[in-house]
Formats: sequence, C-alpha cells, structure tokens
Amino acid sequence: MSDALDIDALVDEARSYIEAAQSTEEIRQMTANVSGKKSPIAEAHRALGGLDPEERKELGRRLHGARTTIEELIERRRAEITFEELTREMAGARIDLTEFIPGAIVAPPARGHLHLVSQTRDALEDVFVGMGFEVAEGPEIETDWFNFGALNIPPAHPARGMWDTFYLNLGSPESTLLRTHTSPVQIHLMEDAVVNGGLPIHAVMPGRCYRRDTPDARHLPVFHQIEGLVVDRGITFADLAGTIEVFTTAYFGPDIHSRLRPAYFPFTEPSAEFEVTCTICHGEGCRTCSMTGWIELGGCGMVDPAVFDAVGIDTDEWTGFAFGFGIDRCAQMRHQIADMRALIENDIRFLRQF
Ligand SMILES: [Zn+2]
Repeated sequence: MSDALDIDALVDEARSYIEAAQSTEEIRQMTANVSGKKSPIAEAHRALGGLDPEERKELGRRLHGARTTIEELIERRRAEITFEELTREMAGARIDLTEFIPGAIVAPPARGHLHLVSQTRDALEDVFVGMGFEVAEGPEIETDWFNFGALNIPPAHPARGMWDTFYLNLGSPESTLLRTHTSPVQIHLMEDAVVNGGLPIHAVMPGRCYRRDTPDARHLPVFHQIEGLVVDRGITFADLAGTIEVFTTAYFGPDIHSRLRPAYFPFTEPSAEFEVTCTICHGEGCRTCSMTGWIELGGCGMVDPAVFDAVGIDTDEWTGFAFGFGIDRCAQMRHQIADMRALIENDIRFLRQF
C-alpha cells in the first residue's frame, strides 16, 4: 500500500486547491477537503493501522510532515485573503469629500470671544491709557496691612464694617484675606515708587475683588473693580472732577455726564461718590434711577495724608486723588443688564449677545 500512496502528489494536489481559494468562505470549504476527516491525508492515516510497525513508523513520519506542510499553506493563503478582503473593505469605506458642497455638511465651529466683563475691562483700560494712565496689577490675597491698615483703616476701626471680608487666617499676627477692593494695589505702587523713585504716579488698577455679599441683581461676592490713582505735584480736586467727567463721556458717550456728591471713605479726604447720567432715561428720570436721572457708579476723593504717611510720601511735596468703581457694574449699566448674576451664569445664549 505504501507504494501506492504518493505523498508528494497528495501535497501538490492540496497546494493547487489552496492557491485557488479566493475568499474566507472558499478557504473554509477547501480546508475541510484537503485536511478534514474525509480528506485523502486523513484516509492515509487511517490506513496506517494495517501496516507492519517499521512501515507504519516511516509512513507515519512522512504523513505528519505532509500534513504540517498543508496546514502551513492553508494558513499563509488565509492570511493573504484576509488582507485582500480588509483592503477592499477599507477602499469601499473611504468617503469622497469632494462630492459634498463645502460647508454644507460640516459647519465650521463657532468662534468664541472674550467674556463681557473682560471686554469691559479692556475698554475701560483703553479709555484711561488714552488719558495717559498706566495699567498696574496686584495680588488677590493681601495682608490686613495692605487691604486696611495702610489705607487708614486700623484694626477695630468702625469703617471696617463697610467691607464684609473673607479672612483666610483671622487672628494671626499677619492675618491675610481676599482683597475687598483694588485699593491695596495703590499701596504697593506708592511703596514701590518711594523705594525706586517712581513718583509721580498716574495708574489704573483693574482686578478681581471679594466680599461676603449674597448674590443679587446688583451684587456679586466676586466682582471686578478698576481703581485710579494720581500722585503728582499740585494735584487738586478739580483735576479729580475733570478726570471723572472725561472718562464718563469717553466710555458712555457724549450725552452721559458725571457729578460728585459728598461721601465718606477712610482713605480719601475729602471724599465723594460719583454718579453718571442714567443710561436708561438719559436723565429724564425712571424707575432704575429712582426718578433722579443719576446712577451711582463709584467712589473717589483726594488721597488722605494719613495714607501718604503710611507709605512714606512727603505730603508737603505731593498730593493726589483716587477713584474706583465696579467693572461688572459698568457693563451692567452700559448694556442695561437687569440682573448682574447673568454675568457669572455662563449661559451661552446671554454671552453670545456681546
Ligand atoms: Zn433713569
């Protein structure tokens, strides 16, 4: 029987079947034919049982080799077919974007822009830079000295009640807090000017401030202020009033004016609140301005000599004025935003309008 079995021919026959297979399905069928239970090689194996031991051993070894060869051929062909099929599939899945009208399918992402508060801050800075001011910044965490002490508000001074303060470590010798106003930046500027010969000073100081306020239509616990400071020779209250008026018309428009009313602040003397023409009724009187035609915007005054003393500026040579107001409040007035909380809610439908 061994003479009748041509193992090489058996392998050649299997090889021609394997190479003819063109798909995964054909590979599956062909594998059953050339190496399955009913394949010639399986039949040859079964026939080994009728041979004598020596013959069986020799033929068994060759059959095993032939079977290994056939399985390797099948695996190689299977890999080729898998690769061909995958390549065809990917070619079919490719999308020709030139078939589409540009922009009709994929809309370009909407462009963002600065938040209204940032825009307002930039616009205010532009007005003051145009008037000859520099822009300065300072830290949001301050010591008690910079936020209160140097500004003529010693510990236990009743004026501290004007600011509901977030203290970070109240009671320690160097107690720190979240600044309640941008005025501490004035102290930094003046101390620096004394040390480094930086007088005179013409600066505005925008920044974030914190107070323990419950948010409502006109107050936020985190808000933005811009502060102005001028220290020079021969500065008078008229310079202050003129600066406020020039700023008001430059920012709000030529038909909006300013006026000053007496007020009290510990760090200025005399002090004033400044009001601007109501932007809603333009001075006619309406509900927003309580029929007065004016809306309060900020505070100002001549720098108190006690503040100059605290930083070591000679009050015989230098005088100055300071003013401050809310950036959020400015945005609210200029754009007639009923509720200030809209500024921090991040509702894109609101923010997109500006
Ligand atoms: Zn009004």
